[in-house]
Amino acid sequence: MIKPDYPSVLLIYTGGTIGMIENRETGALEAFNFDQLLENVPELKRFNYRISSYQFNPPIDSSDMEPTLWAKLVKIISYNYENFDGFVILHGTDTMAYTASALSFMLENLSKPVILTGSQLPIGVLRTDGKENLITSIEIAAAKHPDGTAIVPEVCIFFENHLLRGNRTTKINAENFNAFRSYNYPALATVGIHIKYEYDKIRKAEPNVPMHPHYAFDTNVVILTLFPGIQENIVSNILHTPGLKAVVLKTYGSGNAPQKEWFIRQLSEATEKGIVIVNISQCQTGMVEMARYETGLQLIDAGVISGYDSTVECVLTKLMFLLGHNLTPREIRNEMRRSLAGEFTRPKL
Ligand code: ASP
Repeated sequence: MIKPDYPSVLLIYTGGTIGMIENRETGALEAFNFDQLLENVPELKRFNYRISSYQFNPPIDSSDMEPTLWAKLVKIISYNYENFDGFVILHGTDTMAYTASALSFMLENLSKPVILTGSQLPIGVLRTDGKENLITSIEIAAAKHPDGTAIVPEVCIFFENHLLRGNRTTKINAENFNAFRSYNYPALATVGIHIKYEYDKIRKAEPNVPMHPHYAFDTNVVILTLFPGIQENIVSNILHTPGLKAVVLKTYGSGNAPQKEWFIRQLSEATEKGIVIVNISQCQTGMVEMARYETGLQLIDAGVISGYDSTVECVLTKLMFLLGHNLTPREIRNEMRRSLAGEFTRPKL
């Protein structure tokens, strides 16, 4: 029997491969009912936990994830916050890193685990990776220190033996079970026979400060990836998009971009109009250092700010989150230089 003081976890099923089944006629994967998901994981009944669930109706492929649904997730977590020790969100892998990043900013002062997981093979398939991911995520969501505080009070992605900080994570593989990486921050836990937590890498919560949920987003943003041969009229058209407020500029190497006069002029004109431009690298590993090369220095002069070693998912969602709070461009630039949820590494001075 489950005692009232036993760990409690709320399982939120948004959709994705983990809950899918093959349509016998078309061969396509389609979402199935959450009750069937539990039927396929009878092991869950062996936990001495109180596990409750909430299902998106209809479940979505994560390609359809959007800020209104992030707000819905925050509402569900916020509404149930006091009643559960932790939360597990079942989510399609394709946009899981965006959702994890967004939630890390929306759930301010989080003191409980919010673990996103999914799978590459549906949970009803014999070789599924979903069962392992789900069972371990539940265990992590319920894990506490002897003093009763959560071991991992963060928004994380758990996938194939690794617990990663959500806003540091990127999907890198459409085939293998090992689908996610956090290139610029170590894993928070590694799972083998034991779950080995990296206690000094895990964010410390302030349990006495109440969790503050945020809901607003402004999606007037764009990702602009540089490539050799990029044309002025195309860059100009993007930067003159009506309503555009922020740009994630994906540059080369340690934050380098063409030195052409037209390019720097286009960026300067945009930043002068109040468009916030954040520089992140097309390289997965390493940090933007704009002061390192002449090309980077020109970007600083054009008003471009550094995204340091953030992922594209993180910078994009952070900009949308900050824009949603009606801050001035100057305030947004200041907040982008501040780590809100451990999303970038502070550069050494
Ligand atoms: N297309 C699916 C989704 O992201 C893939 C997955 O679940 O892994 O919803």
